Amino acid sequence: MNHSDTDDDAAKEVHDFIRDRVREDLASGATKSVVTRFPPEPNGYLHIGHAKSICLNFGVAEEFGGVCNLRFDDTNPAKEEQEFLDAIEADVRWMGFKWDDAPRHASDYFDTLYAWAEHLITEGHAYVDDLNAEEMREYRGTLTEPGKNSPHRDRTPEENLDLFRRMKAGEFVDGARVLRAKIDMASGNINMRDPVIYRIIKKPHPRTGDKWCIYPNYDFAHGQSDAIEGVTHSLCTLEFEDHRPLYEWLIAHLPTPSQPRQYEFARLNMTYTVLSKRRLTQLVEEGHVNGWDDPRMPTLSGLRRRGMPPEAIRDFVSRLGVTKSDSVVEPAVLDHCVREHLNKHAERRMAVLNPLKVVIENYPEGQSEELEAVNNPEDEGAGMRMVPFGREIYIEQDDFMEDPPKKFFRLGPGREVRLRWAYFITCTDVIKDDAGNIVELRCTYDPETKGGNAPDGRKVKGTLHWVSAADAVDAEVHQYDHLFTEPNPGKSDNFVDCLNPDSLTTLTGCKLEPSLGAWPVGQTVQFERLGYFCPDLGSTAEQPVFNRTMTLRDTWAKIQAKG
Ligand code: ATP
Ligand code: MG
Repeated sequence: MNHSDTDDDAAKEVHDFIRDRVREDLASGATKSVVTRFPPEPNGYLHIGHAKSICLNFGVAEEFGGVCNLRFDDTNPAKEEQEFLDAIEADVRWMGFKWDDAPRHASDYFDTLYAWAEHLITEGHAYVDDLNAEEMREYRGTLTEPGKNSPHRDRTPEENLDLFRRMKAGEFVDGARVLRAKIDMASGNINMRDPVIYRIIKKPHPRTGDKWCIYPNYDFAHGQSDAIEGVTHSLCTLEFEDHRPLYEWLIAHLPTPSQPRQYEFARLNMTYTVLSKRRLTQLVEEGHVNGWDDPRMPTLSGLRRRGMPPEAIRDFVSRLGVTKSDSVVEPAVLDHCVREHLNKHAERRMAVLNPLKVVIENYPEGQSEELEAVNNPEDEGAGMRMVPFGREIYIEQDDFMEDPPKKFFRLGPGREVRLRWAYFITCTDVIKDDAGNIVELRCTYDPETKGGNAPDGRKVKGTLHWVSAADAVDAEVHQYDHLFTEPNPGKSDNFVDCLNPDSLTTLTGCKLEPSLGAWPVGQTVQFERLGYFCPDLGSTAEQPVFNRTMTLRDTWAKIQAKG
């Protein structure tokens, strides 16, 4: 692992098999100027796996003074929606990357792609096939047996051209005919057994409207779009390794303006979640989560709403590096990067999630004061703030025990603790309701301990966070856990069976320090002793709602320390 620092990762020279190849190509002159692209299909939201591809494509372009295009691979109008296009752009920007011009679209090139399909036909390298999907599967053969030629394989270029034009004119129904590249039905690589390159889909397209009813598929659109854009290094995930011969065959048989090369790297996989768009779509459509940006989702919009900073996501991706071997990473590694970043950058505030009222009996009624608190001990520049204090405060219910065991250093009858930034208090009485529940504590404070130290040098073992009752802002807080109870839920089609029923816990009546009332959405803050939190989308000063990004406990750092 490459332990780069979050804040200056751009300064270090990164080495991996792709960057080393780019360096070589630039040195030899094979590449004049690097062009990459990030090519999402707009049929869902981007997830943490896409972050790897984004960081690689935009990162390589940035590091080598080239450009990276954002290109929508919008060749299937049946699955694509404007909402996805917009969300993808917003997510890439949020990750901190920019593209030169407007985003590109495979659909921008439909005219050229169509002309190139006719070119293949004319040259005798493509034919129109009438086999239906099932027949085509039968003819394709298997990994161990060669395929068979379609009875339509030897149509003349004239006949093919006529049929293809009639496909374009809308004369045939969906699936009735396809255009196939004429390569080799006996090839050891099934992708080379006359792959389909154009199909009939009678659906209007978000960008080209009713102009087309035939659409190129991924294999025919992708490499050709790369060539049109002058992409030098086309970076994709390992499952496309077997498509590379087809990628190269098409480039070799078409009059493309450039000859891009494809390189494959391993996908990012993570435990306790799913990263397949099909599965994520199912979670959204069946209502198992509250939309694509649900903070439990591994989507970039979910992580953002959860309060994870993009710097930490970039750091995470760079630590994983780029290799050719598949691996599965624990979410604890991402969490570790997030904590490391937030520890340095998030301001501290006090909030009580499960409040227990404390009345300080020797604090004069009607009096209040403001106490100085440090905003971030890791960042002097974050300054100080004033926190109101008065006769009634809230502490956390589990910071008090009526009959505490030896190792419990918080509050108990007759015990003295420090209130963060305030005073020492001693518990003098416990008030219960008729059912025997503790509803209030009575305490005294020592006015000499203002700021948290006793002039006589006496020590206390515990320091508690608290919020002034008169000034507290009421809030709702959402706490999250893994979305699944199984480490590898995606391996089964019944993956929704292992959804974690406790992945979301909602707390109401939480008490916040007043400065948290109008906390900006998008800014994550540490609630002292509790964790990192950020306002949910739609949180208002009147009705604040906070999402817990994560607790302060770093399980990954512990695993690392144990070695
Ligand atoms: P899915 O397989 O879930 O449908 P996809 O790969 O089809 O996802 P695309 O929108 O086509 O999603 O992906 C855009 C780019 O992001 C592609 O280059 C793809 O290789 C890359 N990518 C997708 N998932 C991952 C991942 N888990 N790790 C790294 N790169 C990924
Ligand atoms: Mg894809």
